Amino acid sequence: MPPVESTLSLATRPEGPAAVASTAKGTPPACRFCSATLRHTFVDLGMSPLCESYLPPERLSAMEPFYPLHARVCERCLLVQLEEFVAPAEIFSEYAYFSSYSDSWVQHARTYVAEAVERFGIGRESLVIELASNDGYLLQHVVARGIPAIGIEPAANVAAVASERGIPTIVQFFGRELAAELVADGRRADLLVANNVMAHVPDLDDFVGGIAIVMAPRGVATIEVPHLLHLIEGNQFDTIYHEHFSYFSFLTARAVLAAHGLAVFDVDELASHGGSLRLYAQLRHTGRHAVSDRVRELSARERALGYDALATYSSFSARVIDTKCRLLDFLIAARRDGKRVAGYGAPGKGNTLLNYCGIRSDLLEFTVDRNPYKQGQFLPGTHIPIRHPESLEQERPDYILVLPWNLKREIIAQLAPARDWGAQFVVPIPEVEVL
Ligand SMILES: [Zn+2]
Repeated sequence: MPPVESTLSLATRPEGPAAVASTAKGTPPACRFCSATLRHTFVDLGMSPLCESYLPPERLSAMEPFYPLHARVCERCLLVQLEEFVAPAEIFSEYAYFSSYSDSWVQHARTYVAEAVERFGIGRESLVIELASNDGYLLQHVVARGIPAIGIEPAANVAAVASERGIPTIVQFFGRELAAELVADGRRADLLVANNVMAHVPDLDDFVGGIAIVMAPRGVATIEVPHLLHLIEGNQFDTIYHEHFSYFSFLTARAVLAAHGLAVFDVDELASHGGSLRLYAQLRHTGRHAVSDRVRELSARERALGYDALATYSSFSARVIDTKCRLLDFLIAARRDGKRVAGYGAPGKGNTLLNYCGIRSDLLEFTVDRNPYKQGQFLPGTHIPIRHPESLEQERPDYILVLPWNLKREIIAQLAPARDWGAQFVVPIPEVEVL
């Protein structure tokens, strides 16, 4: 297990790039869950910069660090994973992703809170703790009901937005140490929410161990993670990036939680992020919920599809290379026909895709994003400029490449007026398609 300062607070964070115990010196890496040697490639996307390291104009001539983006699969537990080349303190201390800029994500959170509060009897005497609470996109709905809540969010810039909204937020990484501090302070979670964070922690053991510590005896944890089954079936290789250390099948996620005394008693399959799982877990010895049929059915389905066998993971690379060729074919043909292509969105997944495919402003003139934090900056590695969405109307490109393809319906509806000047939409994943 690599040494990670998982509860390092920003106040004590050392300046500059955080050093990480890397296996780059020749020793084969070990699985972060079961410690077996990782000898099998899942997909190798070459060298890439950190996908959230957007560049301001003054940094365009500076050196830019690139790290291997080589996903491996463990032959023993089948956890697909990336080595930790960069410490979370470097990645997540200032984060460019403000959850509230996605209408559909805020709606997702609102619906979740309404359902969870009802189903688990969460009230004014309860405590809701959210890990990676971002800008308070979810806990705002909890606080509005008069239910006590604590957010835990290591990125100071997004945490500050949550605090302004009246959501108590601890600016720290979560792990056993912080969990123990909360418990010592008399604060245990009746409902613990961890959306899109378990995949982002290099020290999985410390993170899941912390969840088990901070839960009230009859509490419930709901954990949302992208589902590896959809990554593979949907060819979503662009959701592989350095910040995303682990890729879970349901079978592997259950095993990881079980190792810490957390029993999964229910599961939802969600459309978010291209296909996610919401795992409902309780402490094995004190939880009160019966295991649902959905748990048995999904486990059986994954086994039937071969997700319990190494061979299933080994054919993925060929499809990824084929997709790269198809996207380049399209963009090169558009260029030769004198067509203009611009992007929509500047998500992390877009940066994986563009860097892997070697697409720069020669093939994609610019992209636009609603997030003012990103406007005026440049995409890492490819240096494609990020502009205000109004630029589309001004420049009137022939094609708009939708980089956050998981939100394609919402985006194409928002951009409907672009049809008036004849623009067509292009989605890269799962297959290159003009809409
Ligand atoms: Zn393993």
